[in-house]
Amino acid sequence: MTPRSYLMIDNSELLRRLPQLPITHENAAHYRGYFERRLLINRCQDCGHWHHPPKLLCPKCWSHKIMPTDVSGKGHVYLMIWLHQGPAAPGLDYTLPHPVVTAELMEQAHLRFSASVLGAAPTKLYIGHGVRLNWIMRGDAPWPAFELTGAKSN
Ligand SMILES: [Zn+2]
Repeated sequence: MTPRSYLMIDNSELLRRLPQLPITHENAAHYRGYFERRLLINRCQDCGHWHHPPKLLCPKCWSHKIMPTDVSGKGHVYLMIWLHQGPAAPGLDYTLPHPVVTAELMEQAHLRFSASVLGAAPTKLYIGHGVRLNWIMRGDAPWPAFELTGAKSN
């Protein structure tokens, strides 16, 4: 079976496979990337500025030349919370605190992305800890999740 390109997923399939998300024209390319396990973050083609959440114009120079672009998925913990309850999802167990972090990605200062952290014990997770992106299956779609690396990454 040939892998399908994320561009092959039309809007109706995207909505069907990610029913819990508010898919819009601005963020559809970002979420289509999930199906290729690619974290696509909008980058301005005029000034090089990255921004997330996705917008149709650059918040720095107002250019409309925006391109969903792969990021490394590497960064460090900027903010962290432990969820004790939340929306039901396959594989989520709230009987133990569930770690979610906002990571600052290495591509640019202040470029941040939030996701669950896999296998993080409460005593091992701290602000500044290095993370890298991994993927889990949630329902009918790959879903980004971080895992801890050895130390602060930048
Ligand atoms: Zn720009």
